[in-house]
Amino acid sequence: MQSPHSVLMNTVVRPETVFTRGRGAWLYDEVGLAYLDWVQGWAVNALGHSPDIVAAALARQATALVNPSPAYYNRPALDLARRLVDNSVFDQAFFASSGAEATEGAIKLARKWGQLNKGGAYEIITFVNGYHGRTIATMSATGKPGWDVYYPPQVPGFPKARFNDLASVQALIGPQTVAIMLEPVQGEGGVHPASVAFMQGLRALCDEHGLLLILDEVQTGCGRTGSLFAYQQYGIEPDIMTLGKGLGAGVPISALLAKQHACVFTPGDQGGTFCGAPLMCAVGVAVFDVLAAPGFIENVVARGEQLAAGLRQLSARFGLGEVRGKGLLVALEVGSDDALQMVETAREHGFLLNAPRAHCLRFMPPLNSTAAEIDHGLTLLGKVLAVHRSQHVSAALAEAV
Ligand SMILES: *Cc1c(COP(=O)(O)O)cnc(C)c1O
Repeated sequence: MQSPHSVLMNTVVRPETVFTRGRGAWLYDEVGLAYLDWVQGWAVNALGHSPDIVAAALARQATALVNPSPAYYNRPALDLARRLVDNSVFDQAFFASSGAEATEGAIKLARKWGQLNKGGAYEIITFVNGYHGRTIATMSATGKPGWDVYYPPQVPGFPKARFNDLASVQALIGPQTVAIMLEPVQGEGGVHPASVAFMQGLRALCDEHGLLLILDEVQTGCGRTGSLFAYQQYGIEPDIMTLGKGLGAGVPISALLAKQHACVFTPGDQGGTFCGAPLMCAVGVAVFDVLAAPGFIENVVARGEQLAAGLRQLSARFGLGEVRGKGLLVALEVGSDDALQMVETAREHGFLLNAPRAHCLRFMPPLNSTAAEIDHGLTLLGKVLAVHRSQHVSAALAEAV
């Protein structure tokens, strides 16, 4: 029998549950069940579900000006660009709607820069297990196993190095190389942070060979890793950076930022119908002012430490693996390929989690989580892990009989 949900294309495995309402750390379904949500739209809802400041910014801007066209200036786009530029090492911004679109813009910017400065060099070194989005070019830049055979042919020009392995990057640099692009923490790849030595080594390689360093901070930016932008924890300055996800705290807005020497677009080079429209930029301004307010990032750091410490305790209690990450982007190696089943069990316990890999769970609570909410999530996770352990024990007993 066909599910009534089959009017939607079958692009992802989803539970049958239909969600109707969200508030802060909590999500509610059609039959009224409540879930503590540590997926939060995939690290998108920086301030939890339906924050009042987002609703207020949308309402205010919706009655003032929604979309005058990208060919005219609007005040919210200027205000958001000003905030991003004043709080980073970058000089100019371009706004788009999704992370993939911003990162695709970074690829175009680097290729244009290569045309102007490096005799048409166009190769961008990217990384095994890296993730950059779902347009054809960003999929080609992505290093997810198996993605190279989706939708052939790939866009050429994205040789893959190994993450945290400087020699593997060096080996790929050639006359056609124009840039190196990476995530400071590989998010979809299972939450693997770049080491400080690796990031500083990449900066040195870029300086030595005249390459652009592009950081895809679509997942790590906007406070998620315990600083406004993750690059700030590495003592380096990238040439180009992309933002998305948390930038709009749930609404679709992304940004491409660059230092002056890399801002080489001229009129006609880049654009899009919804790029920099005031409705989403007004939300971006309101969200940014919360992220940048005194004490906000300190809470991310404190809650991140609380979460990691709690996960390490659970890992020790249940004999699981490594806890890694930065700020409130944290993963736990579960020591088996049971992570997807654990996600199911957690949902049955009113707890929404994500497994980016079969052997690891990823935790992306709202950045404004309270200590009590983090403790509550850890308690729920303890219950889920206990259920799994007892299932394994009974399965082992059944086999023994
Ligand atoms: C999610 C993500 C993207 C893609 O963003 P979309 O908004 O889904 O297009 C790109 N890069 C990184 C690092 C991401 O985590």
